[in-house]
Amino acid sequence: MREGLPLKESQISLLRSPSHLYVEREARGYPLCELLLGRFKGSEIVEVDSYKEVFNRFKQNWRLQKLSPKLILGCKRGELMYRTGEFVPNFKFENAYYCSQVLNCLYDCSYCFLQGMYQSANMVVFVNDDDFHKAADNLLERIKQLYLCISYDADLLALEGVLPLCKRWIEHCHRKPELHIEIRTKSANYSAISSCEPCERVVLAWTLSPSEICSKFERGAAPLAARLNAIGRALAGGWQVRICFDPVIPEGSWQEGYSELMNELFALPHSERIKDISIGGFRMNAEHFKRLSEKSGSSPVVTKEYLAANGKIALNEKSASKIKGFFQDILKSRFDSERVTYLFG
Ligand code: SF4
Repeated sequence: MREGLPLKESQISLLRSPSHLYVEREARGYPLCELLLGRFKGSEIVEVDSYKEVFNRFKQNWRLQKLSPKLILGCKRGELMYRTGEFVPNFKFENAYYCSQVLNCLYDCSYCFLQGMYQSANMVVFVNDDDFHKAADNLLERIKQLYLCISYDADLLALEGVLPLCKRWIEHCHRKPELHIEIRTKSANYSAISSCEPCERVVLAWTLSPSEICSKFERGAAPLAARLNAIGRALAGGWQVRICFDPVIPEGSWQEGYSELMNELFALPHSERIKDISIGGFRMNAEHFKRLSEKSGSSPVVTKEYLAANGKIALNEKSASKIKGFFQDILKSRFDSERVTYLFG
């Protein structure tokens, strides 16, 4: 199946310097805006009235943009916190929300839902980060306890070297005893936050796949060995660590791949400190999946084992239960089953 243009890590140029920086007039003066303008001095600056002028334009070539994404700096107004949907595990929190301070990701996973969500592969950064913190505080006042996924529409830890959003959320979490956050990543960029004081209510969540799957479907993301190394350092540093096998890609000799990965994971020093494990199948809103397929050819991860029903694409029941059984078996002597979450539907 066609995967669109191949994208190597060296081609993902945003961390180095985007050719163009589009800046909303209103964004000027915000510390994050000035930080990024100072960081990318070589980029051509274009002032715009609204980030939407660039980001929501019709007829954009997503694949071509992904080769050299531009950076758009704006301010997010209106709703800043959203309830998580059916595809996102809530880890037993009654009030599970997400926020999107960055739209689009540095990486380019073949199965990524962002390809189905956005017309553009350019990256938007909302520089009014204090407003996001205030929105979380306002929500907390109302609902008393909040579980917030901050790295939902982007991989924030991957960007932390140029955009210190994770650090600011971690500091904010230290001040708010009822705030719980999840920072999900496929990066190995633990060192960007390793100087922060670990917080019991901040979970660093690493998504892992066997090496073969990483190199085939997770373009630009850190290699498995580097992610495992980062996990080891985070565990040693006293952080809460979540491991996500999500999505599990049942391709080729996947059982061997995941068994080997599990051996490597549990061989890490302090692996007994892993907080929990989340396991899920590829699942996506059918409309997003249609748009993803238009951009990249049919998704390479979706095979005859997947069904379209009730407005979504998900593994059929037989395959889902086979994968679940496999993980139950492989984890039973290694990890408390109460701390494993499965999400296939
Ligand atoms: S790391 Fe996550 S958000 Fe980024 S491209 Fe991959 S699936 Fe998408």
